[in-house]
Amino acid sequence: MAGNPDFDLFRPSEEHDMLREAVRALAADKIAPFAAEVDDESRFPQESLDALVAADLHAIHVPEEYGGQGGDALAACIVIEEVARACASSSLIPAVNKLGSMPLLVGGSDEVKAAYLPALARGEAMFSYALSEPEAGSDAGGMRTTAVRDGDEWVLNGAKRWITNAGVSKFYTVMAVTDPDKRTRGGITAFVVEDGDEGFSYGALEKKLGIKGSPTRELYFDDVRIPDSRRVGDVGAGFAVAMATLDHTRITIGAQAVGIAQGALDFATAYAKERKQFGKAIAEFQGLQFMLADMAIKLEAARQLVYVAAAKSERGDADLTFFGAAAKCFASDVAMEVTTDAVQVLGGYGYVKDYPVERMMRDAKITQIYEGTNQVQRIVAARQLLAKY
Ligand SMILES: Cc1cc2nc3c(=O)[nH]c(=O)nc-3n(C[C@H](O)[C@H](O)[C@H](O)COP(=O)(O)OP(=O)(O)OC[C@H]3O[C@@H](n4cnc5c(N)ncnc54)[C@H](O)[C@@H]3O)c2cc1C
Repeated sequence: MAGNPDFDLFRPSEEHDMLREAVRALAADKIAPFAAEVDDESRFPQESLDALVAADLHAIHVPEEYGGQGGDALAACIVIEEVARACASSSLIPAVNKLGSMPLLVGGSDEVKAAYLPALARGEAMFSYALSEPEAGSDAGGMRTTAVRDGDEWVLNGAKRWITNAGVSKFYTVMAVTDPDKRTRGGITAFVVEDGDEGFSYGALEKKLGIKGSPTRELYFDDVRIPDSRRVGDVGAGFAVAMATLDHTRITIGAQAVGIAQGALDFATAYAKERKQFGKAIAEFQGLQFMLADMAIKLEAARQLVYVAAAKSERGDADLTFFGAAAKCFASDVAMEVTTDAVQVLGGYGYVKDYPVERMMRDAKITQIYEGTNQVQRIVAARQLLAKY
């Protein structure tokens, strides 16, 4: 079928390839040198934020009409993947900027988009996404945070848990119950809460297994008054907006997983060619060659699924929900396997902090948990499958 233009759909464009080269160079130069230190000290990777903002790569998805680059879903994935290859914590800067602002893009009015997206595009403000609560994780619809209307304002009370980049972000898209009788069927509404709003505060930093450079905190709302102009979408549309957001952004977690796994595979392969036992490089042993081959095969399958899902996100295809869940689930399971195998390839040296693969293994774990655990992704995928027959 030579000459069939449809075959072009199966490879990224030249622009995407150039973007990858640029992000890879920036990550090698400005992000990778701090990755171990950021993990060790559990500190926010300010160097990465500065470098990403300077290169306009911190929120590439923001449409041009709001001052952004208008990068497509694949471009966002490439940025996140290449940053994650060097430092998973840093990749949560572009990933969560997209996650936090996606509800505005999916369901927000022109006014709310014009109010918040330009500052994000300029790199003056980061965005976070606040759905989960202490008692409402997989069952996000069981949330207890409330928003009660008072004239032209809303009054928020409650708490959110596990909020990525909390305390660093300036803007927070918060889902709250506005009609307890309806809940997920029209009783939840989304709002933007700003850092510094009266009655809005943060909990202590969580002490985590991985992505230690990405701050995770609780959010507290104590009679936080916000104007109705900060509502994202219609009253009661918040849960649908939150779920539609995840259809798009789970793909970026897939991209993060692919990046982490690629970093581990690159390191393990180079190491295997250097390390000598029994008088030869360990890469010459077929036992290790097969392991490296399996890692590469699974990783490439994950990457292709993520990219196809990104194309579906861009086009808004009807099967996006399935592909978003599938890409996130498959790529994160692969990342966990590949990073664990990378530790194995290095033997005892893989188990210590002198080499980066133990960090990558710890970082990979979260991709199986957030934006819905992989059990939840399988529930989503099964629902889509069963609905077809
Ligand atoms: C570091 C980190 C960052 C995060 N960032 C954010 C963020 O920025 N914004 C945000 O809103 N949330 C965030 N989260 C929350 C995350 O999405 C939740 O932790 C996740 O959805 C799981 O909820 P849970 O922790 O309450 O686990 P639970 O829901 O209590 O689940 C516990 C276990 O039960 C399983 N389970 C639950 N229900 C079912 C079922 N029906 N069938 C089969 N198995 C089931 C789960 O898969 C899991 O294995 C973050 C979490 C972490 C740890």
